[in-house]
Amino acid sequence: MLQYKPALLSLSLLGTLAACEMLGPPGELPTNAQLMVAPQQYRDWWEATEACSGREGDFDAIEWYVVPGVETFETEAGPKVGLWSHSSEGMRVVVADGYAENELVVRHEMLHALLDRGGHPEEFFATRCNLTWESWSSSE
Ligand SMILES: [Zn+2]
Repeated sequence: MLQYKPALLSLSLLGTLAACEMLGPPGELPTNAQLMVAPQQYRDWWEATEACSGREGDFDAIEWYVVPGVETFETEAGPKVGLWSHSSEGMRVVVADGYAENELVVRHEMLHALLDRGGHPEEFFATRCNLTWESWSSSE
């Protein structure tokens, strides 16, 4: 998951926000979340994320949802711009409409899917892929 933060968010703070749904029954979808067909752009981002992480995964195994007309949506862990989960019903990524075309946000959730874990191991999220707010802005 990626926490909404307009300015800067420290890695240590991101590290504390590691609670993703893992393998239990699926949690409730955010209010108004709509199933969507992933844009073609996402496939390119998936390939780029596979490349930086050195992991491979099945893009088509992910169900994509968008929450229309919002910048953030509410979750048990506070407002989010993106949320990955792997429940007993499979992998799901929810993105806020305002960030659905944001490469960092989408690829950050993809990296959770490729690693199949919550939390943000620095090797992958920072060093290899620059998929945190902090590492992303310093890589541009
Ligand atoms: Zn995350």
